[in-house]
Amino acid sequence: MDFYKSSAGNGKKIVTVIPGDGIGPECINAARRIIDAAGVPVEWEERQAGASVFRQGIASGVPHETIASIQKTRVVLKGPLETPVGYGEKSANVTLRKLFETYANIRPVRELPGVVTPYSGRGIDLVVVRENVEDLYAGIEHMQTPGVAQCLKLITRKGCEKIVRMAFELARAEGRTGVHCASKSNIMKLTEGMLKRTFEEIAKEYPDIEAGHIIVDNCAHQLVRRPEQFDVIVTTNMNGDIISDLTSALVGGLGFAPSANIGNDVAIFEAVHGSAPKYAGRNVINPTAVILSAVQMLRHLGEFASAALVENAVLVTLEEGKARTGDIVGYDRGASTSTYAEMIIANLGRQPKNWQVRDYKQLKLPQVTAAPDLVKAGSRRVIGVDVFVESGQSAAELGHSLEQIVAASALRLKMISNRGTKVYPAAGTFTDCVDHWRCRFVLRDEREELKDEQLFLLLAQVSARHRWMHIEKLQEIDGEAAFTMAQGED
Ligand code: NAP
Repeated sequence: MDFYKSSAGNGKKIVTVIPGDGIGPECINAARRIIDAAGVPVEWEERQAGASVFRQGIASGVPHETIASIQKTRVVLKGPLETPVGYGEKSANVTLRKLFETYANIRPVRELPGVVTPYSGRGIDLVVVRENVEDLYAGIEHMQTPGVAQCLKLITRKGCEKIVRMAFELARAEGRTGVHCASKSNIMKLTEGMLKRTFEEIAKEYPDIEAGHIIVDNCAHQLVRRPEQFDVIVTTNMNGDIISDLTSALVGGLGFAPSANIGNDVAIFEAVHGSAPKYAGRNVINPTAVILSAVQMLRHLGEFASAALVENAVLVTLEEGKARTGDIVGYDRGASTSTYAEMIIANLGRQPKNWQVRDYKQLKLPQVTAAPDLVKAGSRRVIGVDVFVESGQSAAELGHSLEQIVAASALRLKMISNRGTKVYPAAGTFTDCVDHWRCRFVLRDEREELKDEQLFLLLAQVSARHRWMHIEKLQEIDGEAAFTMAQGED
């Protein structure tokens, strides 16, 4: 396997282990004990990240030694990390995911024995494949005016291609038969639409897998009504964040929800849950999510037999129900975290009566070019510009002012929109306007191309009368408008 780089020289594979914050060390300790007891050839390299590191004054929450260890081992088993309050502003979790370009967040959920939910008996067994680094979570935010905030939703063809291929490859590796793409492409045609278009294109390369698109809000609705219809769901970052928390709840909640952050170089395995500080150090929480994350890790390392051994022991323990944690039976009578882990160790080598572990194959990591410009256009032309202006004037006042400004220029004011709805020229609508206007200028001669000098002149003219915050060039790519119309714009 080309992914795994680090061996201890004694036949063992080295894994970076980060105990994390709150309940993290208890969960990680349980998983480590079970893996060691199963005789898996793994050597742990313990490193720190999270709250203790922030307190040392390291703003990222991830020290150099941890980064160096991950660069070497390429595989991490991680406890939850507290997001700092008062120690800087970035989450160490997100930092780790981004630093190592773990672009796929894979969250399997499966009905488990002895974990009774309203869905028990329906055979839920699905995986959410969430894009993990782009979208609104790229974290590019600006205050445009004192009262108007903006977050950039960044979706790339490369990011879409990687996550879509990952979803199809995962389906193949796990013997699954269908992949749904969940998107909001009906509203966000360029960004969410890019995922849908990429999915439809790449699906053709996987004729053995049934592919379908579903609008993400209906996906949420269908997941609550009939979750058993889904096999693999691939989606953008924020949609996936929400959908995968929903799917965790279908099978018993956060105590049972594992996840993998997979990149082509590094993979980080962790529970979906956080540090649950109120349970920290009490030896009461459910470590199953971290243990099942470790099972995903073993498969990633190619240790399929060991992964099945541990997963079967978890299933036997849950099926027999001799040790159930407090989140299932109540904290006054639940088994301790360590007793539960010991029960799993005692059950290593046993098979559950009514449950089966899937037959997994090695996941083939998608190979997409390293070149930054994956898509090359045949032709492109700038045909206008959107200038975003802050103004306390009315739409009519602003419109007249801008028309005066460009009266003798090569550009004309096509329209003004407010929060996406056209408000000038007036269309008799009831838009509740704020002081943030998108003013769309296009060339009077539609055959021409807008030159930067014309744009700079326009900005100088606009700024003599108004405050502008930013601009977006209006491009035509391969003869098609590479921007959307405002609501109500013709
Ligand atoms: P949380 O730690 O996931 O805990 C929320 C609730 O979920 C707990 O109070 C508990 O519910 C239940 N729960 C979570 N893990 C459980 C387990 N293993 N066994 C049983 N029950 C479990 O979410 P949070 O309180 O919103 O976040 C706490 C901190 O964790 C924050 O600093 C957050 O930023 C961080 N966080 C980190 C990660 C990560 O590292 N990947 C992920 C999420 C959050 P009951 O109260 O109902 O018993």
